Amino acid sequence: MKQYKLLTPGPLTTTESVKKEMMVDHCTWDDDYKNITQKIRRELLEIGHVSEDEYTTVLMQGSGSAGVEAVFTTSIKDKDKVLILANGAYGERMAEIARYAGLNYILKQWNYDQVPDAKEVEEILDADKDITHVSMVHCETTSGILNDIEAVGKVVHDAGKIFILDAMSSFGGVDIPLDQLRPDFMISSANKCIQGVPGFSFIICNTEVLKLCKGNSRSLSLDLYAQWETMNIDGKWRFTSPTHVVLAFAKAMEELKEEGGVRKREQRYRKNNEILIGRMKEMGIKTYIDEEHQSPIITTFFYPESHEFSFEDMYYFIKERGYAIYPGKVTSADTFRIGNIGDIHPQDMEKLCDIFQEFITDMTKEN
Ligand SMILES: *Cc1c(COP(=O)(O)O)cnc(C)c1O
Repeated sequence: MKQYKLLTPGPLTTTESVKKEMMVDHCTWDDDYKNITQKIRRELLEIGHVSEDEYTTVLMQGSGSAGVEAVFTTSIKDKDKVLILANGAYGERMAEIARYAGLNYILKQWNYDQVPDAKEVEEILDADKDITHVSMVHCETTSGILNDIEAVGKVVHDAGKIFILDAMSSFGGVDIPLDQLRPDFMISSANKCIQGVPGFSFIICNTEVLKLCKGNSRSLSLDLYAQWETMNIDGKWRFTSPTHVVLAFAKAMEELKEEGGVRKREQRYRKNNEILIGRMKEMGIKTYIDEEHQSPIITTFFYPESHEFSFEDMYYFIKERGYAIYPGKVTSADTFRIGNIGDIHPQDMEKLCDIFQEFITDMTKEN
């Protein structure tokens, strides 16, 4: 099979050493394995700048969405009401989750190139006292926009509401001081900026708030409280754990430390992103999100201004030369996306842009 690197926001390109960890069939019940789980749980708190005094980590089998669904269906009771702030597909998915589970929710939407506005959120909370929870996405991977979780988080806390944060595509790649932000639930997953492989999500929970969720869940497998209750004893997972994925994740956590931690990783991602956007700009390819709100994770670009342009052609041209990019997800414009997270370095960005330049030149010649 021809190897290529993923410039997608998860699954992403992992190191050889992370992949190698999966060559072992590990048992799940002994102390060795349980200690690996406990270490992961502890160190995820450290990455978030919070301590076991107030916060706890729950690992949950499944995709990232399963983690969001676990939080929603475990923390929101029948009489509760959640305000969902959305400026992209992942925010909208929260509303889907709420609808499937029969939860009481309000969906407040913004354009995909605009961030949720704290003032507007404050007004909604003032006008509707029945709202108990507010949820939002940090980096909306749909467009690559980075939402202002500090400003919105402050409004949510001042109003005394439960704050649910989907930091799926940013945690580990952008430094998020959870000690200051104080979300009640923050969700991310193994295959994003920690640079592991897909298979589980993790939720950093305010322990006291989680303890109030006993018996709420509408789903057995996604019962966040029950998962925590079991896992918190000694690290044993409730139901079969994705062993290979967990081993790979433990290795990925080590490699994050070796790189110098989240701040250093964030610098690398920012450098990747800068090179990408700068060189695309030179080729006349514009970004969908303005500079102020662009995340260092993934970037949405408008199609080149040529009537002959085909995403399919470009995709295969680039893939043959070693990289897989991503179609756009913005409904209002023709776009494509390039992620710069994972085991991706500035030289990859330079190479990708060279390939892109070659494609554009070929395309222009043909016309
Ligand atoms: C990746 C991602 C998810 C989860 O997606 P899955 O496909 O379920 O793993 C949720 N929210 C955001 C912002 C994401 O980037």
